[in-house]
Amino acid sequence: MKRIYNFSAGPAMLPEEVLREAQEEMLDYRGCGMSVMEMSHRSKVYEEIIANAEKDLRTLLNVPQNYKILFIQGGGTQQFAMVPMNLVKNGVFDYILTGHWSKKAAEEAAMYGKVNVVASSGDKNFSYMPDVSHLKLTENADYLYMCENETIGGSTMFHIPDAQGHVLVNDASSNFLSHPLDVSKFGLVFAGAQKNVGPAGVVIAIVREDLIREDVYPSTPIMLKYKTFAENGSMYNTPPCYAIYICGKVFKWLLSIGGLEEMQRRNEKKAKLLYDAIDASKLFKGIVAKPDRSLMNVTFTTGNEDLDARFAKEAKAAGYDNLKGHRSVGGLRASIYNAMPYEGVEALVGFMKQFEAANPVK
Ligand SMILES: *Cc1c(COP(=O)(O)O)cnc(C)c1O
Repeated sequence: MKRIYNFSAGPAMLPEEVLREAQEEMLDYRGCGMSVMEMSHRSKVYEEIIANAEKDLRTLLNVPQNYKILFIQGGGTQQFAMVPMNLVKNGVFDYILTGHWSKKAAEEAAMYGKVNVVASSGDKNFSYMPDVSHLKLTENADYLYMCENETIGGSTMFHIPDAQGHVLVNDASSNFLSHPLDVSKFGLVFAGAQKNVGPAGVVIAIVREDLIREDVYPSTPIMLKYKTFAENGSMYNTPPCYAIYICGKVFKWLLSIGGLEEMQRRNEKKAKLLYDAIDASKLFKGIVAKPDRSLMNVTFTTGNEDLDARFAKEAKAAGYDNLKGHRSVGGLRASIYNAMPYEGVEALVGFMKQFEAANPVK
């Protein structure tokens, strides 16, 4: 068996400790004689698994008591519809457009009301974060929407905008639990698991209780109401049991290393190593404006499409996989989420130096 350094944007690496523990419990979960995959979600054992997952997440993120933690299916993309369907009142929504994902979310929301774009970095192919310090919001907007980390472009909103009394919604799919987050600033935070938290198949939504309503968009299916999940402990129907179980293990792993402050320290150290190498290189350059560079998704390029492709190919052969950038941005992207060890980034930087030596800039 040989594990490689996987720089995929998602599904992405998980902590090896978590995978090993899951392996040990695969055939017989703690004396139950069955795998968690084979277990009734109504069993006492499973109820404990999901309750502990929720409790540990609450501890990790310091989630205030007046917020519900919901485990939902349908991925981050389904939240693009659930958010407007559940939060609509006046049918007016303010969106900050910072890349592929916030744009998709805004397109979906336009089916349920009027979308106002209050800030955008679309003029430069989303290669920076717009200034969100003094937004001109729509008076009767039902919420202000942001995507904290744009996975494809590789930018992060390091300053949470002032929502001026409006409900603030955050798609934190690709940097969830990478740093401490003040949940009380938001009405709703959601994150698909497969970037930083667990396997695909579950999305975590943290929703302030007063936003969990019955009077949602007309004809909203039962399974698309936050209320359904809130009232049934995320088990109105069969939840993605195994995915939640693994998320629970990741929460325990995060607690064991010292929580989100320690995770942030490690992530900053990893990202600095890689960005410093890019900035010191004559061959590679970063794509995103320096103050807005993501600690999770590092986008860079040689400026030459063929050379980028060759780098990704040779890197893969050397054991560094999934470095090709998204087609909308081009170039290269190294996703270095929580579970990517420092040694993985160090090894990649070594490989980049080797590649540059073999392909010197003239
Ligand atoms: C991946 C991603 C999504 C979409 O997630 P799916 O689970 O594939 O639907 C949404 N937002 C962000 C920021 C993402 O990175």
